[in-house]
Amino acid sequence: MTMTALPAAFVERMRIQLGPEAEAFLASYGEPRAKALRLNPLKCPEAVPTERMQTELGPLAPVPWCPEGFYYGDAVRPGLHPYHAAGLYYIQEPSAMSAVVRLDPLPGETVLDLAAAPGGKAGHIAGRMRGSGLLIANEIHPVRAKILSENIERLGIVNAVVTNTSPDRLAGRFPRFFDRILLDAPCSGEGMFRKDPDAIREWSPGLVAMCAARQRDILEQAAIMLKPGGRLVYSTCTFSREENEETVERLTAEHPQFRLLGTERIWPHRQRGEGHFVAVLGLSAGVPDGGGPEAHPGRRAKARDRGPDKAAAEAFRLFCDFAAEALPGWTPGPGEPILFGEQLYWLPHAQTSPFGNEDLRGLKVIRPGLHLASVRKSRMEPAHALALAVAASQARRTIRLDAAGPEIRAYLRGESLPVPGAESGWTLVTVDDFPVGWGKISGGQLKNHYPKGLRRHAAAE
Ligand code: SAM
Repeated sequence: MTMTALPAAFVERMRIQLGPEAEAFLASYGEPRAKALRLNPLKCPEAVPTERMQTELGPLAPVPWCPEGFYYGDAVRPGLHPYHAAGLYYIQEPSAMSAVVRLDPLPGETVLDLAAAPGGKAGHIAGRMRGSGLLIANEIHPVRAKILSENIERLGIVNAVVTNTSPDRLAGRFPRFFDRILLDAPCSGEGMFRKDPDAIREWSPGLVAMCAARQRDILEQAAIMLKPGGRLVYSTCTFSREENEETVERLTAEHPQFRLLGTERIWPHRQRGEGHFVAVLGLSAGVPDGGGPEAHPGRRAKARDRGPDKAAAEAFRLFCDFAAEALPGWTPGPGEPILFGEQLYWLPHAQTSPFGNEDLRGLKVIRPGLHLASVRKSRMEPAHALALAVAASQARRTIRLDAAGPEIRAYLRGESLPVPGAESGWTLVTVDDFPVGWGKISGGQLKNHYPKGLRRHAAAE
């Protein structure tokens, strides 16, 4: 394998940091990288690959530090398989899976992923929350926030709000609000060198120093939002102590109410992964609240008591008529309808912190919960996100397409399908038993409602 030469200053620093192990570490850059996917428990509750999956994707071998993670072979392209479109898994660098394992989010909690795009760890968090509680997935860069939002949709996540704002704005809005926070910080990307030659070209000691300063700032903001007794995980895909241990040590030195509960490193010469750093921090339970939700009782109480506005309630009534007919087995979790222009969403309510529509006012929100439908006057169309968030057994009409057959590929290209004798109406299209999108049947034809932006060209298959 040829690769761009490592920067001399990086090699020098790693020799100092690793001592006798440095040669093995540096030699690992000549090895091929390990590829892995993480099963989505929202679709595969046991998070174990089925025989069918292994037939389709080849042998899948467990990632030792993550129960949902599996290595796949070099010849496989799981991103092109219809199971990917159905959200069965997320392709993720294996060592990056360690962060959410340490965060250990639970159903019902209120969780923040502060630097979330493209969404690998947000998807992992949501999988562990099993649709219960509230996840705020934030990303500062607008283009990356959109990609994050698409991944949240593909994975069938119902309880996430995607925001596109800065850590300090979020900290101003949600002090002492979250049970768990992940800060997977922007870093100098030394663990990306095998995958991305640009990361090698962009690296310099100055970049490391700049990243370390930025990480400290963002970590300060993250710390403001953690509840007493809560857990904060800080992670990076880089190796320098400056961006890792020293960043968290500075936080605990300046804020002794935060305790470092442990750190973990994955190294590319010791494990099958590109490398990751994870630090687990806890905030003492006895810390004075200092302006948490209780500091704004008026605002939050108002948000909860007011209920949805008239237009949202009206759009939701229309949606309920559709759902009663086409999705008789489905009901949303605790939340409220919210209308963004013509788009109807279901805003999840948090269980461990008061939260409602008002709390998002003034923040740039990309996805205020589960997208239910587009509503124009008295016409409504179910949203793609809804198809991915329900189970086939909850729909009145389904068309089941075989994962290995040509029809599913035709559907994903946006083609209509003949369905002679099938009942007319909105129909859930599934690959094997997994929903992948909507179609509308009329006169024995399934009109394709797979989103235009996601359709594939034959050449890409
Ligand atoms: N957690 C993501 C995942 O698992 O898919 C990867 C996150 S990546 C390591 C770091 C993210 O931080 C990037 O998406 C980047 O746009 C964002 N970022 C960059 N500068 C930032 C800042 N000043 N504050 C917050 N986030 C920032």
